[in-house]
Amino acid sequence: MGKRECRRLSTLSIISATLIWPVDAWLHVALFGQGSSFYEALFLPSPEQLWMRSLAILLFLGLALTCKEILTGSADITPRTNAAKAFSPSFANRRYVEEHSKLRSLAYRDYLTGLYNRRRIEELLEAMYKTEQLKHGGLSLLFCDIDHFKRVNSRFGHPAGDEVLVKLADVFKQHFRRGDVVGRWGGEEFMIILSNLSQRETQDIAETLRKRVLKETFPHVGELTISIGVAVLQSGEDVNSLVSRADRALRQAKQNGRNRWHLCGCESDPILQAG
Ligand code: GH3
Ligand code: MG
Ligand code: MG
Repeated sequence: MGKRECRRLSTLSIISATLIWPVDAWLHVALFGQGSSFYEALFLPSPEQLWMRSLAILLFLGLALTCKEILTGSADITPRTNAAKAFSPSFANRRYVEEHSKLRSLAYRDYLTGLYNRRRIEELLEAMYKTEQLKHGGLSLLFCDIDHFKRVNSRFGHPAGDEVLVKLADVFKQHFRRGDVVGRWGGEEFMIILSNLSQRETQDIAETLRKRVLKETFPHVGELTISIGVAVLQSGEDVNSLVSRADRALRQAKQNGRNRWHLCGCESDPILQAG
């Protein structure tokens, strides 16, 4: 049944439900009247009439209600209509978009923390590098690593270690601005890409982040510290070199005693500063 027929049937059912009572009263008087008036038949029906009229009204109302459900789409109409819906272009498009965004999320996000995974960070870094080459806006990396994380696992177990990683990821999510890229590089290492910042500003952010982590309370362990390797893109430098300088700076921060950041200068100026 099409929508138009359904709408017609619904209207007809409502009209019938409304008219059944007076029409039956009139018919009763006209056919079997024998002196009784229309008003008597209308307002004082016999128990049989009362029962029949109520039943008829209920049936018509039921029919109208079913039609309304079909029209609003809350009831199954026919298998043909459902199949048509499933294969209609808009429905298929929506399903495709949902599935596609789910797959994208699986491919780009770290399953544990919900942050970008390494693959996505590398892609975004490349893209931001290209933009930087055009606009000369500046590009900075903060390569963060949890200090003595192995101890967390060995003292409290691997699942507890996972909880700590999730909490740290949440701290990062809250701490950084919308345009900043925050991702899990692997294990207990996180990479943050910042754009349009001077070296001084990048160092300030590294120090603020270090202090912020220090202030937080982490599950099982309470306090936690991180070390940060800082690198700011030099003119003529490529992405790989930038990443490896951030990595070197991180190792230096560890060697210098952890719970600190370390800035990697350019090759000709290897004297580094530490927080
Ligand atoms: P350092 O201060 O020198 O960084 O010491 P560390 O113990 O943090 O260093 P290391 O890199 O040797 O240890 C990292 C540990 O992180 C080892 C590994 O078991 C643990 N780890 C890596 N990925 C995960 C993970 O997904 N969950 C948990 N719970 N632990 C992980
Ligand atoms: Mg590590
Ligand atoms: Mg570590």
